[in-house]
Amino acid sequence: MEMSRKILIDMIKLRSALAENSDLKIPEGLFYQTANSNGLKSIRELAVFRFSCRKCEDAPCISVCPAEALEKDSDGIINRHTNLCISCKSCVTICPFGTMMTDFFKHHRNKDLYYNLNDRTELNMFIDSCPSGVVSITESDESPEKNIYSLNDNILIREYLYTTEKP
Ligand code: SF4
Ligand code: SF4
Repeated sequence: MEMSRKILIDMIKLRSALAENSDLKIPEGLFYQTANSNGLKSIRELAVFRFSCRKCEDAPCISVCPAEALEKDSDGIINRHTNLCISCKSCVTICPFGTMMTDFFKHHRNKDLYYNLNDRTELNMFIDSCPSGVVSITESDESPEKNIYSLNDNILIREYLYTTEKP
């Protein structure tokens, strides 16, 4: 992908789509050959823990995890160790803010639902597989007034931050 073009993932639209159909199978995008690919950690997971999570001081998700798979990094962002996680979803259930979606870790060992976003064909398949309008290509940049934030050099995320007033 050209440097000026970015992938915009609209977490707000994704939540609406999931609210309408909780059985929806959400494809996951990731970048292979990066630190993020270890254990198929998806863009959605990185986005949720970075932007949606309230970063609770005594995080109940960490205490409830039977596998000690969750910990905070030095910025207070939750990191899930995919090699330890047993997909029990206790953390999803206990989070008082519904940060994690109900399907969140369900498919994390199913490679068929993962798309390599460095590959143009797979990127197009990822866009087509996601609910309409959730993923798009944009030449725009980070724009907090539109609830759009940069996850990394290639990805923009649209999400309400907990410090942001909803319109
Ligand atoms: S309980 Fe929910 S909001 Fe709190 S730190 Fe864990 S994921 Fe974030
Ligand atoms: S789903 Fe994974 S991270 Fe969450 S509580 Fe269970 S083992 Fe821990």
